[in-house]
Amino acid sequence: MNIGTWLRGARLADGTPADVHIEAGRITDVVRDPPATTTGDLDGYVLLPSFVEPHAHLDKALTAARVPNPAGDLRGAIEAMAAAAGSFSTADIAARADAALRVMLAHGTTAVRTHVDVGTSTGMRAVAALADVRERWAGTVDVQVVALVGRPLDGPGGADLRQALREGADVAGGCPHLDPDPDRAVGICLDIAGAAGAPLDLHTDETLDPAMLTLPVLADLVLRTGFPHGVTASHCVSLGVQPDEVQRAVADKVSEAGVAVVALPQTNLFLQGRRQPVATPRGLTAVHALRRARATVAAGGDNLRDPFHPMGRGDPLEVAALMVTAGHLDTVDALATVTAEARTALRLPAVAIAPGMPADLVALRGANLLDALAAADQQRRVWRAGRLVARTTVSRELSLSEDT
Ligand SMILES: [Zn+2]
Repeated sequence: MNIGTWLRGARLADGTPADVHIEAGRITDVVRDPPATTTGDLDGYVLLPSFVEPHAHLDKALTAARVPNPAGDLRGAIEAMAAAAGSFSTADIAARADAALRVMLAHGTTAVRTHVDVGTSTGMRAVAALADVRERWAGTVDVQVVALVGRPLDGPGGADLRQALREGADVAGGCPHLDPDPDRAVGICLDIAGAAGAPLDLHTDETLDPAMLTLPVLADLVLRTGFPHGVTASHCVSLGVQPDEVQRAVADKVSEAGVAVVALPQTNLFLQGRRQPVATPRGLTAVHALRRARATVAAGGDNLRDPFHPMGRGDPLEVAALMVTAGHLDTVDALATVTAEARTALRLPAVAIAPGMPADLVALRGANLLDALAAADQQRRVWRAGRLVARTTVSRELSLSEDT
């Protein structure tokens, strides 16, 4: 008989001590304020829904040392990767994706949407590699594979997108803002996704050029066509440099269309604004206008130590901290960008610490939520469908003088 497991002694996000019972993959009971005599092995932890990474590039992960980007901007990264990616074997891509997923899981991430390059230099190798990774990680980390195709979308890019969706990609992707005809490219991507019955997740307006604004074109098309499979717009950097009234109007349209926006602070703080040494812009989307309009706003790590961003720990708490520091969200809202909002963007079932919910959980060291998020202690535990899938223990020794 399955009698389940009690997770005792943790605090919930609101600070309440609670004992949580999990059984058959789900939370079956939550006892708030248990008797003070009760202690548990989660004393000193905060228990939260596990994290979701809504935008990664696992095929490129962990290549920064061998694929340098001296220019440090988006064009430099694209050129460096185009020159190097031809040498990436399927096995190499899969091995690096595995390594990245292990790090992400240890940090508390149980679902990842990864864009993978498709086209001239990599062909379909990255799709094949990540489709294999997705199968092997099923049940532990949900992996969604987005086909990220080149240009032009009305030529090879579109053909590659159709092929990738036939050969294992889950989601249609692309970069319309890099296309010779950006507005038309948005429509082509939506048409191809619709024909395949696939969601759409576009790299959208990843530039500080205010004249490049395809996000309202995408939202208009979704509203007009009633596209039913889910649409996400990633980056949306140029929305961040529009006047307030434009931000509001676009945000209203995005919200009405149900288009989710993914902010990517790490990579865009790194890549954007290098030619503006005075009052360097932040390269972030209009987080507050979008949130005021009640649009879904998630946040992701994007690149993990590759030419697009040489830093990164594969930790959603790193992203959440940037959403506080650079995005000016409070800690609760910043946490939501890597949990509830990210689940909505990826059309995953909701998770909360409540009976009936999936037992996809992370326990973070900390006396309270703020403490846990700020410290981002590596000592964590992670459960997927009630199964303990990661447990990190940190040993620290200080040698202090007696009067310290
Ligand atoms: Zn990206």
